[in-house]
Formats: sequence, C-alpha cells, structure tokens
Amino acid sequence: MWRLIFLGIIIYLLIAAFKRGMLTKKQDDLNVKKGAPASEKKIETMVKCAACDVHLPRSEAYLVNGDFYCSKLHIPK
Ligand SMILES: [Zn+2]
Repeated sequence: MWRLIFLGIIIYLLIAAFKRGMLTKKQDDLNVKKGAPASEKKIETMVKCAACDVHLPRSEAYLVNGDFYCSKLHIPK
C-alpha cells in the first residue's frame, strides 16, 4: 500500500517539475522577444546613387551638389 502512495507522490512531483519547466521555458521565450525589439534597430534612410542608381544608406553616400553618389568614382568632375 505504501508503495502505491510513494509512487503517486513521485509521479506528482515529476508532473509538477515538468509543468514548471514548461512555464520557465515560455517565460524565457517571452523575455527574449521583449529583450530584442525590432524597433531598436536603427532604420537608416536609403538614398540612390545619381550615377548608377544603386541604393545605399545615407551615412555611406557622398552628397555632391544635392545629388547622392555611392562612391567617389561616380561623382562627376
Ligand atoms: Zn554609383
């Protein structure tokens, strides 16, 4: 008789541990999603090279006479 009760307690503990493990995993997933929001990534304005129509970030473009260029080679002399 005691064996059955002991077995029942072990099964109960296993189920409880399993459920807790599932909850912890779910919470971790949520934390990961909250920790890395997509909006945190800075979205930079893209500009088009006036010579070759290549799009590139504004910070990497050369601005000459109101036109953007992807490289110094494309800036008209
Ligand atoms: Zn270009």
